Amino acid sequence: MTRTRLTTILLLAAACAAYAQTIPPPPPTSTADVTIDELGYHIRYLASDELEGRGTGTKGGELAVSYLEREFQRYGLAPAGDKGYRQTFEAVTGVAMGADNTLTLSTAGARRTLLVGRDFTPYGFSAAGRASSPLVFAGYGINAPNKQYNDYASVDVKGRVVLVAKGHPESGNPHSDFDDISSVRSKALFAREAGAAALLIVNPDGDGLAEFTYDNSPQGAGIMVVNITRAEALALFTREALPAILARIDSTKTPASSVLSDVTADIQTDVSFIRKPVSNVAALLEGSDPALRGQVIVIGAHYDHLGWGQSGSLYRGKDRVIHNGADDNASGTAAMLELAQYFASNRPRRSVLFLGFAAEEMGLLGSSHWAKNPTRPLADVAWMINIDMLGRLSDSTNKLNVQGVGTSNGFEELVKKVNESYKFDLGLIQDGQGSSDHASFYRKDLPVLFFFTGLHTDYHRPSDDADKINLPGEQRAARFIADVLRAIDARDERPLFTKVVVKEDRRVRGFNVYVGTIPDYGNTEEGFKITGTSPGSPAEKAGLKAGDLIVQFGDTKLKNIYDYMNALGLHKPEEDVPVTVKRGGELLTLTIHLVKK
Ligand SMILES: [Zn+2]
Repeated sequence: MTRTRLTTILLLAAACAAYAQTIPPPPPTSTADVTIDELGYHIRYLASDELEGRGTGTKGGELAVSYLEREFQRYGLAPAGDKGYRQTFEAVTGVAMGADNTLTLSTAGARRTLLVGRDFTPYGFSAAGRASSPLVFAGYGINAPNKQYNDYASVDVKGRVVLVAKGHPESGNPHSDFDDISSVRSKALFAREAGAAALLIVNPDGDGLAEFTYDNSPQGAGIMVVNITRAEALALFTREALPAILARIDSTKTPASSVLSDVTADIQTDVSFIRKPVSNVAALLEGSDPALRGQVIVIGAHYDHLGWGQSGSLYRGKDRVIHNGADDNASGTAAMLELAQYFASNRPRRSVLFLGFAAEEMGLLGSSHWAKNPTRPLADVAWMINIDMLGRLSDSTNKLNVQGVGTSNGFEELVKKVNESYKFDLGLIQDGQGSSDHASFYRKDLPVLFFFTGLHTDYHRPSDDADKINLPGEQRAARFIADVLRAIDARDERPLFTKVVVKEDRRVRGFNVYVGTIPDYGNTEEGFKITGTSPGSPAEKAGLKAGDLIVQFGDTKLKNIYDYMNALGLHKPEEDVPVTVKRGGELLTLTIHLVKK
């Protein structure tokens, strides 16, 4: 253990002790039953302004951890983290702007020192660095070989500072092929591939600057990238105005790049990732049957939410506001606690491991960390139940969604059987992929069941508040989960895992081509790391495997997931694309035959 590491942990321990004293007392009425009062009590606290939306790496997130620990302890459950109830790991939680972000544009007669925050701003994914060169204008900054369009074809940008406009030559066409390859991340990739040192991006259609935010990828763009205001950019074009040049590119579909030889750009960026220790919370209840207690049923729910509105928020208002996340996922966390308390007095035959996951909203970081570093042997995990958003049962539709019913023999039939006395309108989904924590277990070939009451208009918005929770509905749903668990636990045989074939990359939309890779969102290495492939997919057929780090896709070198998505946008169905993969220290090249989505 390094010194810095140790210091971090000591500081964290001190911080935890401080927060631990500020959590509220247990619910005033506390019984083994799943009760409306207790569900409401947990949800109101977790979704209170005091917890400030339980953002990853924040004090509010830490308070939630302390609350879970205290409750688990109160129910008499054994600590099952790697330090007490906690399993602590380091996560990238955001980006920080240092003091040295400068940009100077010099022309023959004048020298303009731009002000960070007013005239320009670095993007959160920018590299840190420094460069000085004549400024090169590279149109929209796009290189699309399949469209025979390359803004970098006629200019040498090696080691230079490049200026490009947002958008693409077919901005008026809502179905343009350029759409998939014209994000700012894409432009950063094209500039980096062309050898540029830094990229200035201007929005030709609007004033204002991009927000300096973390886009949930702990991998930078590998090049300095800043946004500059329209006014500053327009002032650099003395021979022909920028809007006129862009209009010409649009109408001719021909690049019009050039060296702005009378402008010298001097840029320095100071951007870094913020890393913080965050914790999963784990508690174990020993099973009642000596022959079966070696098997572990996992019940998990993520306790984190979007804080004051990090990446993932759908709120578009001007003021920063707390995203309380009552349904997402104070409701699931409360249900998990109530089930822990219930089962502590009504022990199943198998052991139950309760897991409060950290950082789900940042890409399932907590659950994938646990699945990679399990605090109980993964081989002992018999199946996993995930609860994420259980608080909005509609009394009129009575709809309860259960995902993963096809991931093991008999799950669907048992869920339906239990429902005979509950009479939910069940929305059954066979596969166990998807965008919540059960996916981390499904990828490890474990049967999963995921319970949720559905999306709504307050989803990922500040209005997801405790007063909108349907507590009687959640009580019924939580009791249903308990009965489903019992029904599966009643069988002597351990459920067998079944992989369900689905023909869709749920997380990567908008592309014509289908590959079937499952991203590892927690990866911090340069490249695109996968946790597996979909059965029957082109990726599987090409021989890609869990843990592979894809470093090149076709002609595109990959440093991050955005580079990968961009590369997909450059290819068409039925193409054979060579991919270079790093596997156990070795580089190998495989060929993927792309198919239509
Ligand atoms: Zn959630």
